Amino acid sequence: MDCIFCDIIEKKSKAEVLFENKSVISFLDIRPVNYGHALVIPKNHYIDFLSIPLIELNNIIEVTQKISYAINKSINPDGLNVITNNGQAAGQSVFHFHFHIIPRFYKDSFTFKPVLKNYERDSITEFAEIIRSEIKLERV
Ligand code: 5GP
Ligand code: ZN
Repeated sequence: MDCIFCDIIEKKSKAEVLFENKSVISFLDIRPVNYGHALVIPKNHYIDFLSIPLIELNNIIEVTQKISYAINKSINPDGLNVITNNGQAAGQSVFHFHFHIIPRFYKDSFTFKPVLKNYERDSITEFAEIIRSEIKLERV
């Protein structure tokens, strides 16, 4: 299986590593939205947010917050986006699960301005119903 992130984990490819422990590694994104844009990934290969086991996700979230603090302190951005793209349609290009931590500035090049929809009549309830029906463990 060809995976650039697995190559980075195995030190077959170079990366500017910020932090690593036995299950998680964080390094700088090679094509940053802004300088200091970091990625946090599990050392085990999982394709996306839907397939990563919760225990692994817990480890990653902990490191993601740790790196976010460090970026915030060192780069002093106006804000941070912590995001994960899932599936090609959502912009995922490397199919090894990762969080992006993106330092943001009031005046930067990153635009994320969707054209927002309105729900027609009671359709918000219908959408909520079909989603709720698939929530197996917890009810809102
Ligand atoms: P995605 O598009 O899947 O959400 O994010 C993948 C990210 O990985 C992209 O922002 C891309 O710049 C970054 N990336 C791809 N190849 C490499 C690489 O070889 N080294 C590093 N450091 N980042 C990479
Ligand atoms: Zn991988």
